[in-house]
Amino acid sequence: LISSLVTHTHTHTLTCDLNIMNSWSPEALVRKSQEARNQAYCPYSKFRVGAAVLASNGTVFTGCNVENACYTAGLCAERTAISKAVSEGHTSFKAIAIASDLEDRFISPCGACRQFMREFGSQWDVYLSKSDGSYKLMTVEELLPCSFGPEDPRTGENTVDVRSLPLL
Ligand SMILES: [Zn+2]
Repeated sequence: LISSLVTHTHTHTLTCDLNIMNSWSPEALVRKSQEARNQAYCPYSKFRVGAAVLASNGTVFTGCNVENACYTAGLCAERTAISKAVSEGHTSFKAIAIASDLEDRFISPCGACRQFMREFGSQWDVYLSKSDGSYKLMTVEELLPCSFGPEDPRTGENTVDVRSLPLL
């Protein structure tokens, strides 16, 4: 029992170390998104996408697209990565890198993912990459101008009280 506990602790520590980038670079974050792309579950589109989001404390969370036989239940790589981060207690981000197999186009997040990013601020960085690792930097604000987020009045006190809505 003791030896299995020790092994587990060691493995856990190793995993954490690998996912913390004390001095990160866009290139390293793009590489992590490419590694995540290799895990893509996309039997329907065969379009592999990976994402790596860098939390403000230096922790990196990766995600891939996860498709489903019920197409609309599928999830994008970006939202997978961000959800993994949020579910582990991180809601402040520096950057996210996105990778695909496209050779001559920078992979661009869908509208739903842009809004999903926007929830956690509009002034953080998105690295759109090509398969060779080259990238284009845009901010969330540039990808989703005129957006609204949690600080918007309509999502705060002025929100309609759902209890006052007629039951469907
Ligand atoms: Zn998306």
